[in-house]
Amino acid sequence: MSNALPYNARHLAGDTYVIPGLTNSGFVDGLVIDTCDDEAPYALVDVDHLAITHGHADHFSIGHALHARGVRVSAARDDASLVENPDINIRGMFSWAKPGDVLTTKLFRGLPCPVDRSVEEWDDPRATPIPLPGHTLGHHGFLTRDGVLFTGDALYQREIWQQHPLPYLIEPSKVASSLERIRATGFTWLVPGHGFPVEREAAEGHLDFHLAQLAEIRELIVDRLTKPHTTEAAIAMVSAERGLRETPPAYWLAVATVKGFLGELLDEGVLEFFVREHAGWWQTSGHP
Ligand SMILES: [Zn+2]
Repeated sequence: MSNALPYNARHLAGDTYVIPGLTNSGFVDGLVIDTCDDEAPYALVDVDHLAITHGHADHFSIGHALHARGVRVSAARDDASLVENPDINIRGMFSWAKPGDVLTTKLFRGLPCPVDRSVEEWDDPRATPIPLPGHTLGHHGFLTRDGVLFTGDALYQREIWQQHPLPYLIEPSKVASSLERIRATGFTWLVPGHGFPVEREAAEGHLDFHLAQLAEIRELIVDRLTKPHTTEAAIAMVSAERGLRETPPAYWLAVATVKGFLGELLDEGVLEFFVREHAGWWQTSGHP
């Protein structure tokens, strides 16, 4: 294996580097963790394995090009189909019906990347996969042998919350337990999918902030749904309170996130659901 490194790689610890970008990419002696959106940094570098944190296309933008070079690609079983066919995310967002192109976020659009091996069969000593579900079902972080944890979209730093005040998730309680699992992991550096690498102490602050935001959104829903809301009105209420931009892609991401909270609160008995005048309604339990 050559010693060449991606030209813009930043050293973090031991053999672990980050290739900074809109999506941060990890590099450990030929193992790549998620990709940036540009092939150039990897062009003159020996790469033999690509590990993908989850099935959103912005995390494997050039995965297809690495695979075409003979790089082995790993993704979790639950997310592999999303990597091999990004269209599944777009369909899922629209209850499997076909949405118009204008509705889909660019984060879900991308080129398919074949998956060779599931993360569940991991055997690469350069890193250890850590299950961090909640953003997607099969989301994983990767802890390199040098103590650097690549967390994909399991953690949003404070600064990201300003741009995305209602970030995408599908199961808020799983997001919360994944944040606690990150805290319990023995890392010295944490590299989120979007944002900047932080050392342990700063990472703890970002974990607390993310957990507090989840609790705030949950409280908002429980509090405001003492008056019954249709699904559509509940999404609009949360989006307005969080200060979301009014664009079709932002709206459709909010649909998934708000439904994630509604479904969980219903399961916990905190909310009730009923159908009236052919619309679905939600109301906090015990408020006739
Ligand atoms: Zn994502």
